[in-house]
Amino acid sequence: MVPKKLFIAFEGIDGSGKTTQILLLKKVLVNLLYPTTITKAKEESQEVAFKDFMKAFEINSDSPAFMFLYQALHRKQFEKTLTALENGDIVIADRWNGSFFVYHLNFGMLAKGPRENIELLDKLAFQDLTPDITFLLDVPPHIAFQRRIRRGETDTFDAETVRFYEKVYEECRTFAICNNWTIINGTFPIETIHRKIWGIVSEKLGQ
Ligand code: ADP
Repeated sequence: MVPKKLFIAFEGIDGSGKTTQILLLKKVLVNLLYPTTITKAKEESQEVAFKDFMKAFEINSDSPAFMFLYQALHRKQFEKTLTALENGDIVIADRWNGSFFVYHLNFGMLAKGPRENIELLDKLAFQDLTPDITFLLDVPPHIAFQRRIRRGETDTFDAETVRFYEKVYEECRTFAICNNWTIINGTFPIETIHRKIWGIVSEKLGQ
């Protein structure tokens, strides 16, 4: 198989179906013999170590220190992505700098300062490496919550969390429109969404 550089990112709130769609897409690509790498700032398997680290260093998730810690993870994801692309892999990123922007424009210490601060930090981590396609899985928060409850993540969401996700959801949609992302209705059945995504990716690959 001739290496084909393709960098695809998935965005969407927690529970929108990113992991599900990324794994399905990778499966098709690998079956077609495209070497494919998934990158993510923080893997599920690293969650315990990450939480232990935060606890040991007394870092709260709403603190500036947390923002810098995450910045390191973004940078690491960038490095893995670049290496894989240079090796000729197709890379699928589970979130990229769109999530970074949406979060920092609206929450935390950076939201209070000039936008240039966010742009500078974004550049330091992601170095203007822009996906060829960014999919936004559009799933309203109340549906994403139901899915997360069903997968046993939690029993309920408090009012503050609900407000947070509603804001993130709205801001993400606005950002997606402004940045020409491909918005996919993520409330359809898994297979339907996958076919839509594969239709777009296969066209890019000339399949
Ligand atoms: P994310 O990675 O965005 O947090 P996941 O892919 O882990 O989302 O999906 C969250 C949950 O919702 C999982 O239990 C998954 O099986 C389920 N799910 C994913 N896509 C759909 C869909 N289109 N319809 C119904 N349930 C879905």
